[in-house]
Amino acid sequence: MIHPTPRLRFAPSPTGPLHLGGARTAMYNWAAARAMGGTFLLRIEDTDQARSTDASLQIILAGLRWLGIDWDEGPEKGGDFGPYFQMQRLELYAAAAQRLLAEGKAYPCYCTTEEIEAGREAMKAEKTGFYGYNGRCRNLTAAERAAFEQQGRKANIRFRMPEARVMNVHDLILGDVEVNTKELDDWVMIRPDGVPLYNFACVIDDIGMKITHVVRGNEHFQNGHKQRLLFEALGAECPLYAHIPLILNKDGKKLSKRDADTNMLDYRDKGFPPEAVFNYIALLGWGFSGDRDLFTRQEMVEAFKIENIGKSGSKFDEEKLRWMCGEYMRRWTPAQCVQQARPWLEQVVPAGAFATHGAWLQNVIACFQERVALYSEFDSKIGWLFGETVVMDEAAQKNLAKDPAGPAWLRGYADVLEGANLPPSYPRDRSAADRAVGLPSKKDAPAPACAFDTPAQIEVRTRAFTEQLGIKFGNFVHPVRAALTGTDKGPGLFDVVFLLGKETAVARLRAAAGR
Ligand code: GLU
Repeated sequence: MIHPTPRLRFAPSPTGPLHLGGARTAMYNWAAARAMGGTFLLRIEDTDQARSTDASLQIILAGLRWLGIDWDEGPEKGGDFGPYFQMQRLELYAAAAQRLLAEGKAYPCYCTTEEIEAGREAMKAEKTGFYGYNGRCRNLTAAERAAFEQQGRKANIRFRMPEARVMNVHDLILGDVEVNTKELDDWVMIRPDGVPLYNFACVIDDIGMKITHVVRGNEHFQNGHKQRLLFEALGAECPLYAHIPLILNKDGKKLSKRDADTNMLDYRDKGFPPEAVFNYIALLGWGFSGDRDLFTRQEMVEAFKIENIGKSGSKFDEEKLRWMCGEYMRRWTPAQCVQQARPWLEQVVPAGAFATHGAWLQNVIACFQERVALYSEFDSKIGWLFGETVVMDEAAQKNLAKDPAGPAWLRGYADVLEGANLPPSYPRDRSAADRAVGLPSKKDAPAPACAFDTPAQIEVRTRAFTEQLGIKFGNFVHPVRAALTGTDKGPGLFDVVFLLGKETAVARLRAAAGR
């Protein structure tokens, strides 16, 4: 089969947000199109009018954009094969249905829902082994049709299944599969109001939009058989199909709301880096290489082949996703982190500081990049840098009270820092210090040129002071950290002193010592 210009599509129904499975389907179609130098389009399957909303559509588009999945044709883009909303294509479906009716490949069905149900019950009682539509309207005479019309009955248009046979179908992921078409019934293509059902609209659009490859969830595998027969009836070439296995939870069960967020935008709003989420979703059914889990979008595109999507269900594990987010977080520059984390940082960082103390904030953030996975995790760790007084947590209070000599150490250390050449404290201008020093201070890094004491130089002074006191450095660190930050966690103590600067560090030590 020749596919000169690969054209792939993602065809969401705007009846809810973009969830994990949808995001993966979109991504695989996108990557395959990009890998083959083809076109990726979005088609909006909005025929379920009761459940389709513009709000859902906007959420889906925003979710795709957030993941970096762009489309060449579709909503907001247009294109030569539109319209890209199914409800704007009703005439195309009507024309195709007319053609099939004229050729006897489709027929009007006048059965009511109750009659169809009764037919199914009767077949069940007889244990026929087939429980689809019983074909009552398949061979109506013109007079019988007219009689139904006269009763005011409205017709569904059904596809007339060709003679039952064994079909050998090839799926790019599942391989060769034998399908007996006798298990398929005469399915409804169009409702009386002219609105098509999924299988029909999908095929008419795949033909009209010249789709060459269809990558979609396994739940459509059976639909694929019906669709193949319709392509055949219309004399059109069927695209290559690839049905991806379900995403499972980490216990191998069906993924539920408890296992994963159902809306991709929830991940955005929780501060997940989109590059990491993209990377992680790509791995739910596809592998980059045996020894590498981290890759960029571009690297995925270069390596992607539909045939390499796995046959077995992949497991979603939020812990692994978070681990991956952490890996990405460490790769960004501090400047990128400040920018991406800004909506969260704004909750603790005074508004003007982003402009006046950019380098300082980057040094602050650099101290935490190793310890966080999400952009939303920085703000809760840096509040101690701001504010007149330090709020002590329980651990800090304990550390402060541990040694009766503590207050004297703190007072002495305040004197040491007062005499040192420390950078000024926020909100004073400390750009000369922060531009020169990259934090967190690395033990073996050569001392950078700085007009102020660097964290390494602060360490030298501090150790000299503890030696002078004749106390263990380890014992000294705890009350000092408590006094400066109000917690027992955080970056290296000398980074803390450097970041706080002289006035604040000295004032906090004296306050904790009770002056
Ligand atoms: N609207 C269908 C869905 O969201 C599309 C299936 C297909 O790709 O054919 O499941």
